[in-house]
Amino acid sequence: MNSRSWSLGFRLRAVWAVLVLAGCWADRSLGAEQRPPNVVLIYCDDLGWGDLGCFGATKIRTPNIDRLAKQGTRFTSFYVAQAVCSASRAALLTGCYANRVGIHGALGPKQKIGLHPAETTLAEVLKPRGYATAMFGKWHLGRPKEFLPTRQGFDEYFGLPYSNDMWPNHPSAAKGTYPPLPLIEGDRVIEEMPDQSQLTRRYTERAVSFIERNSRSPFFLYLAHSMPHVPIFASSRFSGRSRQGLYGDVIEEIDWSVGEVMQALKRHRLEDNTLVIFTSDNGPWLSYGEHGGSAGPFREGKGTSFEGGIRVPCVMRWPGHIPKARTNDTPLMTIDLLPTVARLAGADLPPRKIDGLDVWPILRGDRVTTHPHRAYYIYYNQGDLLAVRSGDWKLFFPHTSQTLAGKPGGTQGLPAPYQRLAVGTELYNLRQDPAERSNVIEQHPEVVARLTALAEEAREELGDQRLKRVGSGVREPGRVE
Ligand code: MG
Repeated sequence: MNSRSWSLGFRLRAVWAVLVLAGCWADRSLGAEQRPPNVVLIYCDDLGWGDLGCFGATKIRTPNIDRLAKQGTRFTSFYVAQAVCSASRAALLTGCYANRVGIHGALGPKQKIGLHPAETTLAEVLKPRGYATAMFGKWHLGRPKEFLPTRQGFDEYFGLPYSNDMWPNHPSAAKGTYPPLPLIEGDRVIEEMPDQSQLTRRYTERAVSFIERNSRSPFFLYLAHSMPHVPIFASSRFSGRSRQGLYGDVIEEIDWSVGEVMQALKRHRLEDNTLVIFTSDNGPWLSYGEHGGSAGPFREGKGTSFEGGIRVPCVMRWPGHIPKARTNDTPLMTIDLLPTVARLAGADLPPRKIDGLDVWPILRGDRVTTHPHRAYYIYYNQGDLLAVRSGDWKLFFPHTSQTLAGKPGGTQGLPAPYQRLAVGTELYNLRQDPAERSNVIEQHPEVVARLTALAEEAREELGDQRLKRVGSGVREPGRVE
């Protein structure tokens, strides 16, 4: 071998070594340790705080969700921003109080508004970091195609565009027949669906398929079950299985769905690098009685700003990052998920102002002496500020709420009528009195003053329709002609 060929051979070997090293480096940066976590967000509709085994249910079996709780943390003071579907979902996906982004109540099928395309959803936050994104289930942030999930950062969508009881002409449930609902794939109606009994199963199959197709890239899966919002349906495999009638069957099928998702993660060795969040959009719809859920120890349910309306069951699992078999009662709200997940993914925050804050130290189980939020604000209707929570305290402002007043809810899928409930300026200590039974406003004027001042800050920024106040920071929803 002459010196020239030796030198060529050496150079080739050197190039090869550099390529191998570069390959190792690339592999490492894309490997399980370096890759940002997958995020699986499972959002139920009208599931109550007390409807899961790990939250005290005795007649409904939820072994898969209970296992998530054993392997992760139960968050027992986890709030939605509002006790109603569209507003709750707007807050979840934008990290904003819903009234900041102009979404109120529950959008109807014919409404021409939706989440403004210029708002940034969690899916849009994650996409620049290379995430595959999908949403399966109930959207409810605008029916016109301009507002559907595929226009808001989701690569894939399959589901109902609004609540499963929303037909253009609302039928009488007493007839027992339901008109078809538009099942959408992408932005096209693929089926007019009269039967909801396969809905949980079909959403789940999509979710599992998405995981299988995207196991090599980071992904964000938003699985928003239509159940257990009335009218409730379970597939034949689950009918009659629980000890709590059809409602229990429906929850047990959702639990099965969680099991399917977890098994798909396990098959692809993604269990350890996936943050799984399981929660609900608001409390139980109590007027539906046996077709509604339980708020556990809390007062009232969906449609109210009492704890039963806004405090929802929440379990998070991410081995090695979120403590296992732990219960955490630090107050948190869905608005915090976007900035927290953004931090975990190394993603940028939305360009527009948001309300949520990074609460990762709380999720990680740190002993946090100062909460990132001084208060959480509970809005309702067209932007009425109804209550403020700060520390152990919750201050209500005068409004009319709803209650069954101790009367039983409805039977066989029919609602019982609510009565009006006058709520005054009332103060509760949620640590001592989580069921909001004793108004202690007379005993704590200094607390009232502090929470009143915090509420005033919110009114400046977010408004208060009840007082005809317009916030300086509120934005318009999207509109189509
Ligand atoms: Mg709901």
